[in-house]
Amino acid sequence: MNAAAGTPIVAADARRALPAVETLLQSPQAVELQARYGRPLTLAAARTVLDAQRATLREAAGTNGPGGTAELLEAISLQLAQQAAPTLHSVTNATGVIIHTNLGRAPLSKAAQAAMLAVADDYCTLEYDPRTGKRGSRNVHPAQLLRQLTGAEDALVVNNCAAALLLALTGLAKGKGVVISRGQLVEIGGGFRIPDVMMQSGARLVEVGTTNRTHAHDYASAIGDPKLKAALLLRVHHSNFRIEGFATEPGISELTALGAAHSVPVVDCLGSGALLDTTRFGLAHEPMVQESVAAGCDAVCFSGDKLLGGPQCGIIVGRAATIQKLAKHPLVRALRADKLCLAALSATLLHYLHAEAPTAIPVWRMISMPLAEIEARAQELSSALRQTGLDAAVIDGQSTVGGGSLPGETLPTKLVAVRHRGAAAQAARLRTHGIIARVQEGQLLLDPRTVGDWSSLLQKCTETFVTFRSIQ
Ligand SMILES: *Cc1c(COP(=O)(O)O)cnc(C)c1O
Repeated sequence: MNAAAGTPIVAADARRALPAVETLLQSPQAVELQARYGRPLTLAAARTVLDAQRATLREAAGTNGPGGTAELLEAISLQLAQQAAPTLHSVTNATGVIIHTNLGRAPLSKAAQAAMLAVADDYCTLEYDPRTGKRGSRNVHPAQLLRQLTGAEDALVVNNCAAALLLALTGLAKGKGVVISRGQLVEIGGGFRIPDVMMQSGARLVEVGTTNRTHAHDYASAIGDPKLKAALLLRVHHSNFRIEGFATEPGISELTALGAAHSVPVVDCLGSGALLDTTRFGLAHEPMVQESVAAGCDAVCFSGDKLLGGPQCGIIVGRAATIQKLAKHPLVRALRADKLCLAALSATLLHYLHAEAPTAIPVWRMISMPLAEIEARAQELSSALRQTGLDAAVIDGQSTVGGGSLPGETLPTKLVAVRHRGAAAQAARLRTHGIIARVQEGQLLLDPRTVGDWSSLLQKCTETFVTFRSIQ
């Protein structure tokens, strides 16, 4: 139909019948909104709502009358509430992925939370030495603890592990060759690719060996080739994948022996990096920071918010000369960690020093949660859901550690499976209540292992499903 003829006349009338924005803003409800959100935001929301209503009328070609003032005000109020609501808020993780990068990785221990609050509430000794009254270094706070826990001579904390690797490569090998196995040229989540980081650092990639097999002599011949100007041996944890079958790569001690023989420093990028032995918890062995330090690495990089269970940061531990060289690099200023992070990190490290990490740090508590406890929780939720009339059952399943550690490793768990048509719609509904679940083969699956606040989950789940059923 031609827009110039016929129905648009009706639409134009309806559009004209919409209240003027100023009239709308004088209504008592709008006055209240202006008191709460301020005039500029309320005015902008009113304009958006009116514009949308005009557009709807144009498209609907006048079949609908204008929204009444009450509906328009309701829409304005909703829009303002949505704008004011934080998009970053806490959620309940019922996915069973313990170190879930999209959900903020490691939840912090109570002590770490308290430490952040304490330095947030007033001024603090971030770069101040109260004994001398002079300027101090922000790095001293976690460094002492990291030395004690890892056996390293010194430590440096930056924004994340990607930053730690970038700093190590830039500071130690800019303009020179970095020897790395072809099997370790990995891409980690978020498009972080080792060859790209190498390029950014100004170091030159010297790849040796093959995807599945790299030998010590491959590294040795690269070091021996003067054209390649090899200045660093780099090992990178495979992170999120696993090579099985006919595959080999030199261990970290072989690399450090090689490095020592040729006077070439060795950097180990562990990614997750564990301070506790994961075999204690029935898992495969995740490389430990202490092992790489003991093997004589010049620098070992790992994340603060993966298996360490602390805040987002990147930690470099290693030889004093190497760490001090890196600490003086101008990049450090751009990559430094903030006071909240350093406070939480120190509090988290203290749990390891006091040998209470498995119970005090949420990530380890979840890893070590007894199956009987998980099952008891699953039964509790399942029977609560059955009481609302849902088809819920407890089934065997697997939780994963995540965070690029222990690729392919799982922990046996008990899941609550809700069998109901529209599992995806149910999951979406749970999400609006801040509960993140899995959907698999038409079933909604909830893993109690990763749920922080169990009683709140129990209550929210039952409420959600009761209302879900009543509106169907
Ligand atoms: C996770 C990971 C990184 C990146 O760590 P962030 O702290 O997320 O920057 C780097 N290297 C490896 C091997 C990893 O697993």
